[in-house]
Amino acid sequence: MGTQKNLANQFSMKKCRDCSTDNTLAADVCVSCKKKLGDVDVQGYAIRPFDYKAYAVGIASVIVFVVYMWWAFFREA
Ligand SMILES: [Zn+2]
Repeated sequence: MGTQKNLANQFSMKKCRDCSTDNTLAADVCVSCKKKLGDVDVQGYAIRPFDYKAYAVGIASVIVFVVYMWWAFFREA
């Protein structure tokens, strides 16, 4: 018996990765810690949804850094 496909479909609950609380598969936030939950993975844990806000902050800080470097080294040219 080697049917490992669609293992995720066997779960009726998904565990929060932050606090290990069981949540329903339909939940998008953890009932306990209120963190965002994605789909269930093959281990029965909720996948962390992609954090666009953190990504945007990261991009913005890189832009600020580049602008600062440009300002610091090239403004007197
Ligand atoms: Zn949680």
